[in-house]
Amino acid sequence: MTIDLHMHSTCSDGTFTPAGLVREAKAAGLTHMALTDHDTVEGVAGAREEARRQGIAFLSGLEISAEYQPGTMHILGYGFDETSAPLLERLTSVQRWRDERNPKIVEKLNRLGVVLTLPEVEAVSGGGLVGRPHFAKVLMDKGYVKTRQEAFDRYLAKGGPAYVDKARLSPEESIALIRAAGGVAVLAHPLQLQAADEEALQAIVQALAKAGLQGLECHYRNHAPEDTRRFLALAKSNGLLVTGGSDFHGTNRPGIRLGVGEGTLQVPMECWSALERAASARN
Ligand code: AMP
Ligand code: FE
Ligand code: FE
Ligand code: ZN
Repeated sequence: MTIDLHMHSTCSDGTFTPAGLVREAKAAGLTHMALTDHDTVEGVAGAREEARRQGIAFLSGLEISAEYQPGTMHILGYGFDETSAPLLERLTSVQRWRDERNPKIVEKLNRLGVVLTLPEVEAVSGGGLVGRPHFAKVLMDKGYVKTRQEAFDRYLAKGGPAYVDKARLSPEESIALIRAAGGVAVLAHPLQLQAADEEALQAIVQALAKAGLQGLECHYRNHAPEDTRRFLALAKSNGLLVTGGSDFHGTNRPGIRLGVGEGTLQVPMECWSALERAASARN
């Protein structure tokens, strides 16, 4: 049994199509998976269909970028109805905010002397939404940077010279939206919150739990064993279920493999059963 509950397709900033990603998952030996594209559920139906063909257990998923300072807060949703009208409607707004931001990033890059157009970035996006990893790819292809990471470090990272913020859903609305569609809301990769200390992290998680959060992503590609232990304790003390995944983005994030992340990730089977139970309890 190999489980991976966090991965991206060409519908957001991964490099495999939803069906291609499922075939890749099969080849990597996954038996249970969820597709968690940023701010879109476009790929879910296609991935589910291919998962059925490949004999892989599948859960719908998505990853919402919520409003938060100083780091980033991503809320994962699992097991929801991807045809839910309120969910789709709100995600359309989220995508509009992205579409309003992207030309501003182009402008900033142009002012910094980078020759690049939006259609060039759209061309590498694989037809899904356009995000900063696609800008990074073009910067690399044009020789402005050697690696994708350098594109973020020099230009695109939060606070960087070509960074432009976009409107986001609040954490509370993100959670409510997922739950109203019949899904389970989970806080992704808690390290990326950049919480000042343990107490601050506890306060954030408590507030989210009060708003309806049901799970914590304790197993993640770059977690050291002590991080995982810390987050497992945090989940337990807040009555949250435990999830985990690689955050696979295909070649947009080299060095990360499905199921095992950077090599040491191992998501316990219990994560799957707990999610399934919570999803079928229909909140
Ligand atoms: P966007 O949703 O367009 O703002 O892009 C966010 C995505 O960019 C994240 O999901 C990551 O895949 C990537 N990303 C954001 N910040 C960084 C960073 N500092 N270094 C590398 N990748 C990043
Ligand atoms: Fe991403
Ligand atoms: Fe994320
Ligand atoms: Zn992700």
